[in-house]
Amino acid sequence: MSIEKQEINFEDPNEFFDRLVQVAVFKEASDIHILPGKESVTVQFRLYGELSTLYTFPIELFQKINNTVKIRALMDISEQNHVQDGKIFMQIDVEGNTVWVNLRVSTLPTLNGENIVIRVLTTSSKFLDIDSLGFSSQAQKLLKSASQISEWLVLVCGGTGSGKTTTLYAMLNEHDPSEKAIFTLENPVEYVVSWYVQSQIHIVWGDAEDANSYTFSEGLIWILRQDPDIIMIGEMRRKEETETCLEAANTGHVVMGTIHSNSAIGVIARIRQFDIPSYLIASSLKYIICQKMVKVLCPHCKNKMTMKVADLPEKYARHINAEEIEVYSHNPKWCDSCNDWFSDRSVLTEMIKVDDDIYRLILDNAGEDEIRRTLMKKWWIPLYLDALKKAIDWKMDIHEALKLDL
Ligand SMILES: [Zn+2]
Repeated sequence: MSIEKQEINFEDPNEFFDRLVQVAVFKEASDIHILPGKESVTVQFRLYGELSTLYTFPIELFQKINNTVKIRALMDISEQNHVQDGKIFMQIDVEGNTVWVNLRVSTLPTLNGENIVIRVLTTSSKFLDIDSLGFSSQAQKLLKSASQISEWLVLVCGGTGSGKTTTLYAMLNEHDPSEKAIFTLENPVEYVVSWYVQSQIHIVWGDAEDANSYTFSEGLIWILRQDPDIIMIGEMRRKEETETCLEAANTGHVVMGTIHSNSAIGVIARIRQFDIPSYLIASSLKYIICQKMVKVLCPHCKNKMTMKVADLPEKYARHINAEEIEVYSHNPKWCDSCNDWFSDRSVLTEMIKVDDDIYRLILDNAGEDEIRRTLMKKWWIPLYLDALKKAIDWKMDIHEALKLDL
């Protein structure tokens, strides 16, 4: 987004600040950055995930605006050598409408003065929530507890289109953005949420080494300097960013991200492939979520059928203590309300909570089979059993469930 930058001047710093916030809200900017340079001060807005420079003004005016912001955010104006944060609640007029704005201000000492970053929060969350995404009640409970941790790493895996990012955003939405500094780093940004700081990766001609590329590793290092509470990273693909994420999770941050793997247990092997030491994986990884999108049967024309447990593959049969089960399948004739037997979409999930036993297994470099055996003793529900459960609950076609190669 290219916007003509304007050189400006002001007499009353309060009036200038009000105007700045007004323009930011009008343009739906998520952040205002006021950055002192050697000779002038740059004002940037983050618009739809991208930073644009809007104004510059002479450095002589910087102290005025810095004091104004700090006084209004109830920060200590005499302290200029340490990071500080504060909040401003204010009412502004935007095109004749009164809007309440919640500003979260942070300052960072630099060679030329303090960098001021102001997060602009204008509306309440109307966003995705965990309850409405189609997870089983057990998965909902685990996802909510995974959302509430105050450090460590949560990883979501699954195929393309399995809704991984949607799950992460629903988990982020469990937090009050005025209490937590939430940053996302994605390529591209999937949901634009004005109360998060969203940073979009930019790889020039697909070349991460290009001097103009903005990579995950670079973004992560910058985010860590901005005092985040929660960092959401689009996808961990390389050793560098995965290691940085694990270290951040180990030092008091919540890091959430997606990673490529077809199973929750496979995530551990995937991270090991990056040559990351087991102690770092074990001490940072807290939850692994694997998910798969499936079609839900039409409730009006579903077929009920009885199936002999002996006819089921052994991995299902061994969990069923009966000779027969009642399951559902689709009606080849459909009905008027569905047109193709399917009515909705739902998610299959398998989740691993890294408790003391799993922690030790990761630390000891245990193989996937050993980890799976230990999980199974804990009434763990892998994806294929979640599918069977959904076929028993009519939410899924039994033939589709058995066809899944999970
Ligand atoms: Zn139907």
